[in-house]
Amino acid sequence: MQNDPLSHGLWEMTAPPAPPTSPLAGQVKADVAVVGCGYTGLSAALRLAESGAKVVALEAAEVGFGGSGRNVGYVNAGMWVLPSEIPKALGADYGERALTVLAGGPAVVWETIDKYKIDCDPVRNGTLHCAVDRSGVADNEERARQWAGRGAPVRALSAAETAARVGADVYAGSLLDMRAGTIQPLAYARGLADAAIAAGAAVHTKSPVRAAERTGRSWTLRTDAGSVAADWVAVATEAYGGAPWPQVRREQVLLPYFNFATLALSPDLQASILPGREGCWDTNKIMSYFRFDRAGRMVFGSVGALRGMGLAIHRSWAKRALRKIFPRIGAVEFEHQWYGMIGMTDNALPRFHRLADNVVTFCGYNGRGIGTGTVFGRVLADHILGRIAESDLPLPVTEPDAPALPAVKEAYYEAGAQIAHAVGAWL
Ligand SMILES: Cc1cc2nc3c(=O)[nH]c(=O)nc-3n(C[C@H](O)[C@H](O)[C@H](O)COP(=O)(O)OP(=O)(O)OC[C@H]3O[C@@H](n4cnc5c(N)ncnc54)[C@H](O)[C@@H]3O)c2cc1C
Repeated sequence: MQNDPLSHGLWEMTAPPAPPTSPLAGQVKADVAVVGCGYTGLSAALRLAESGAKVVALEAAEVGFGGSGRNVGYVNAGMWVLPSEIPKALGADYGERALTVLAGGPAVVWETIDKYKIDCDPVRNGTLHCAVDRSGVADNEERARQWAGRGAPVRALSAAETAARVGADVYAGSLLDMRAGTIQPLAYARGLADAAIAAGAAVHTKSPVRAAERTGRSWTLRTDAGSVAADWVAVATEAYGGAPWPQVRREQVLLPYFNFATLALSPDLQASILPGREGCWDTNKIMSYFRFDRAGRMVFGSVGALRGMGLAIHRSWAKRALRKIFPRIGAVEFEHQWYGMIGMTDNALPRFHRLADNVVTFCGYNGRGIGTGTVFGRVLADHILGRIAESDLPLPVTEPDAPALPAVKEAYYEAGAQIAHAVGAWL
């Protein structure tokens, strides 16, 4: 991806090719212009095109260039916050709608993969949130109680059950969520682009939108070599955006996350570690996570950016941490490494904004963007198509926040992760 092996790493090396696309050239007209080709923009473009709208999707770099091509591939339901916190933050009506839509995210992803035959290694065997101490166990038990109360297939596992599933006995318990699973994230983004193009959407890459002007009832978006005039604009730039709507990026504090991928593990290790192939992460404050890819490589990551001192510090920590969880793994060799930025909002909940007349966005996914982006892309399309009134959306309309001292917080996260990993914190 743009000759940077640290941006998309393993996923770039193993994803099916992206559909052929070209930069926008000349002046075109559309019903809807979509800005950004990650899950949100592509899911919106697919829905719009299938509904008969003329849609032009503009991507600054390449399909899946943002979070959609860099993430860990956990198809999770809901948000980080407890279900009971969502109505408290959004009010009873929006809270219930948001919970329902977000809880259904994984099902929509699996259905989309099946319907469009997307070749992205879906593994629908759940995820395990592994507790590192008693408070993690208590938190998981409360989550299990709340989700099970809503009829979701979520349950707390004992330390022994967790050890059997993980193949390591370092955890005090875990939360098994059978709605969830794993995918090859960049392959999923490329598959969505294939489907959107097949449905009639025009997808233009290397086409950063530089400016937007309102002319009468229509918006004109300008790129380096062309322009789109459209009645509606769906902004789907999330944490990777900038002009012409920089407020979408600015309301999020960026938290860096890195991934390393080992060489394919031996057949014995592949059989004894995560035999059910769940995706795992832990309850640590500086969280770490691990999963397998299709070829039996272990993908292992945590908070931090692989730049400057961070590259050596995080690599060395990752080797030690993996050996500590799985002592039998022996000497660890990493084949790929990459990192990206997760956009965090102050209450860890996503947002819906009307940035101007007929310019709308969902954003602020807080590291839960696969299901969320897929369903919110659809909802954005349905809103534009007049099928969902603004008052019936799953989130209220809000003005973009301006968090206090975002640059200081971002520097603190990056440096703090380096210090924690340098001194050996791992569990
Ligand atoms: C390391 C990491 C791990 C993560 N792990 C998970 C996980 O396991 N599970 C999960 O659900 N989520 C995870 N996430 C979050 C998830 O990846 C994102 O929330 C999701 O990909 C957001 O999708 P999106 O389509 O909204 O935005 P993005 O995929 O970020 O796409 C935005 C796009 O907009 C483009 N763009 C920006 N400005 C312009 C412009 N002016 N003109 C044209 N295009 C523009 C960008 O180039 C980019 O391609 C993770 C994220 C990271 C970084």
